[in-house]
Amino acid sequence: MSRTAPRELLVVGASLAGLRAAQTLRAQGFTGTLTVVGDEPHQPYDRPPLSKQVLVCDGPPMRTELPLSEDLGARWLLGRPAVGLEPHTRTVTLSDGSRLPYDGLLIATGSTARGWPSDRPAPPHGVFTLRGRDDALALRAELLPGRRLVVVGAGFLGGEIAAAARRRGLDVTLVEAGPQPLERALGAEGGAYLAALHREAGIDLRTGTTVTDFFSSADGRIFGVRLSDGSELPADSAVLALGAAPATGWLAGSGIAAEGGVRCDAYLRALRPDGTVVPGVVAAGDVARVPQPLAGGEPLAPGHWTDAVEQSTTAAHTLLDPAAPRPYTGVPSFWSDLHGVRIRSVGLPAASDEARVVEYDLKARRLEISYHRAGRLVGALTIGRTSRLAAYRAGLGGLTTAPRPARE
Ligand SMILES: Cc1cc2nc3c(=O)[nH]c(=O)nc-3n(C[C@H](O)[C@H](O)[C@H](O)COP(=O)(O)OP(=O)(O)OC[C@H]3O[C@@H](n4cnc5c(N)ncnc54)[C@H](O)[C@@H]3O)c2cc1C
Repeated sequence: MSRTAPRELLVVGASLAGLRAAQTLRAQGFTGTLTVVGDEPHQPYDRPPLSKQVLVCDGPPMRTELPLSEDLGARWLLGRPAVGLEPHTRTVTLSDGSRLPYDGLLIATGSTARGWPSDRPAPPHGVFTLRGRDDALALRAELLPGRRLVVVGAGFLGGEIAAAARRRGLDVTLVEAGPQPLERALGAEGGAYLAALHREAGIDLRTGTTVTDFFSSADGRIFGVRLSDGSELPADSAVLALGAAPATGWLAGSGIAAEGGVRCDAYLRALRPDGTVVPGVVAAGDVARVPQPLAGGEPLAPGHWTDAVEQSTTAAHTLLDPAAPRPYTGVPSFWSDLHGVRIRSVGLPAASDEARVVEYDLKARRLEISYHRAGRLVGALTIGRTSRLAAYRAGLGGLTTAPRPARE
């Protein structure tokens, strides 16, 4: 640690990236005051099981808490969102009015589920989103065999929820605006494979259409939906799986470039709209937009678990040693569980202009697609071919560029 090391560090966002950053700070020898602020009342917990095991498990709710180190020595302020940041006085304000000074601040506030457009509100009862543990438990209580569920959006989250509901014996319709699930992210072949998995499992997948209206009873309970193709479907419940939006509302007026996520340089230092560094502030996880060499240096927030973990290590190091930061060199990676298969991806398939199908075998549950941009490898997707990922990952590492530091 350099002589300029801070004494008072503040982490806002008490989940995966926030916890991992706090653990890294202590592991790297930080002995000063460490405060972690979270708007949820819960101790940090893991989200991937929420759309998988938590929805299908019987009996008492499955626990998904992330392991806490006994000796973290942090002050936890839970159930109190941060509502404002003043970088010039180095102060964060919480919803109860308390003001927390910091030498170094790590922003790890993640994302929130996108809801239905507010000018056409969805019925108040029976329509769900899934981001947190309480959402998962509320949704799970609805997943009773024989009921009819409409899932809006066939991305990874919508697909997993549809698969879990089907496994619980529900009658599931999955509505997707694109021609195939995830076609923009994974290409036509990857999308077709996922569509086939859903249909084989008995899900009624409707592509090229959207939900335009909900039908609800006088007490506000959903009983059906209308699609853009004019068809009407009965529904006992619906889930909106329309993607996530970075939780940056509390940064309004702070001077940080936060549209689409906190814009960062390669050291995960938060930037102003003019590209200069906000001193003492870093970001990590779903809330951070980080330059991606695989996408020509464009700052992106992939929203993946592994990226959040790896970024939190880099961001913690930058806070501890601002004079000698190390660039973030992680390669995005992702997994998803669907109908008994594990989908794995490395790199950024969505940044490609060409998909090359190496293997496509639905019966054997094997899929391997490599993705290229101007002829260079930028990503890969596999099912049943996990062993191939290491080679792809090695091929992708070479695209990481040595970044130029942003100006302070
Ligand atoms: C249901 C689900 C399933 C997923 N499955 C997978 C998967 O299979 N594979 C994969 O790679 N990724 C998956 N992900 C994504 C993965 O969970 C995220 O990438 C990861 O949680 C990001 O961690 P984070 O700490 O950056 O953000 P989050 O986990 O979103 O945590 C941010 C925390 O900050 C809090 N917060 C927000 N605003 C404030 C504020 N103003 N003040 C204080 N606290 C605030 C939030 O409430 C939250 O507790 C899944 C996500 C979900 C929701």
